[in-house]
Amino acid sequence: MINQDFQHLREQHTIASPIAFVGIGLHSGRRVILRILPAKADTGISFTRRDLPEGENRFVALWNRVDGTELCTTLSNRHGHRLATVEHLLSAFSGLGIDNAAVVVDGPEVPVVDGSAMPFVSALINAGIQPLGVARDLLVVRRPVRIQHGESWAELLPDHTPRITVSIDFHQQDIGLQCLSMCISPNSYAREIAAARTFGFAENVWQLRRRGLALGGSVKNAILLENGRVANLEGLRFPDEFVRHKALDAIGDLALAPAPIIGHYRANRPGHRLNNDLLRLLMNDERSWQRVAAADLLDGRINGLDRSIMGMGLQLEDATDGPDPSQAISCEKAPAWREVLDRVLGRTGDDTQ
Ligand SMILES: [Zn+2]
Repeated sequence: MINQDFQHLREQHTIASPIAFVGIGLHSGRRVILRILPAKADTGISFTRRDLPEGENRFVALWNRVDGTELCTTLSNRHGHRLATVEHLLSAFSGLGIDNAAVVVDGPEVPVVDGSAMPFVSALINAGIQPLGVARDLLVVRRPVRIQHGESWAELLPDHTPRITVSIDFHQQDIGLQCLSMCISPNSYAREIAAARTFGFAENVWQLRRRGLALGGSVKNAILLENGRVANLEGLRFPDEFVRHKALDAIGDLALAPAPIIGHYRANRPGHRLNNDLLRLLMNDERSWQRVAAADLLDGRINGLDRSIMGMGLQLEDATDGPDPSQAISCEKAPAWREVLDRVLGRTGDDTQ
C-alpha cells in the first residue's frame, strides 16, 4: 500500500463527490454547516464563508495568510475577515494527498467534529479520492531550518520521504513523556494519526470561556484532563493519543506550504505558532527548499539534490505494505477503532485501484 501511496504523489487529486457535515465550532460553540466540493487541478484548497458578502468571503490556505495561532490555526483574507480551526481539516486533506478542494462554511469556524480528523478522513475516503491527471509539484527541504520558543522547538530536515518525529512531556499529567516517529503516507496517516483527538486541561477551561474561547468544547470533542487524569469515560483511543494529535496538528499546519513537503519534521512540545513560524522560516529562505515536479523526483531526474533525496525512487520501489515495521505503533488498546479503520481503509484500497 505504501508503494501505491507514494506513487500517487505523482499527480494532483481532489474528491470524486461533494460531502457535508453539521457540527459545532470549538470556540464559538455555534452550529456550523460545512460542505466540501471537488475542485480543478492547481486551484488548491480554498475556503469560502457563506455568512459574509460575496467578493470578500474567500480564504486561501497558505502559510502567509495565518493570522492567529492561539489554540487553533486561523486564516485571514485581505478584507480583514477570519476563519478559525482550519488545521484538522487541512491535516485530513494533506494526510490523504488531496491537493484541490473547495470548502464552504456558514460561520467563522470549521466545525470541530469529534476533536480528531477521523470523521473528515472517513467522509473523504467514502466520497472517493479522484486523480486529476495533472502533474503535482513537491517542496523538497534542501537545508535544515530550526526554530525555538523556550523549551519548544521544531525543525525541518532534508529526508527522502515525508517523515514526522514529535515528542511531548507533561510530567504532572497522565500524559507523561510520549514520542512518535513515522513516515507519513495516506495509509499510515489514516491508521495511526487521524483518530487522535485534541486535548485540554479542566483548570484552563473556565479561564478560556471567560475570554469567549472553547465555548463548544466538551468531552464529546476533546480529551479532558482533570487533576492530571483523563476525565472522558470512554478513555483513550491510543495509549499515546496526545502525541499523535500533535502530529495531526503539525501535518495540518505544514499543509499551508505551497506544495506537499518532502522532509523530516522534528519537534518537541510543538504548537500552532511554532509550526507556522517554522514554515515562514523555511519559505523565507529560498536556499532551504526547492520546488520540483513529483514525477522528476520519483524517477530520479533532479540534478543537484542531496543523495538521500535522490534515493527516493529506490526507497519507493523497495517499500513494503503498511508503515515501516521499525516505526510500527501498537494500537491493541483501541480494537474498536482498528475495526472501523480497517473497514474504511478496505474501501480505500478498492477506490484507489
Ligand atoms: Zn489540534
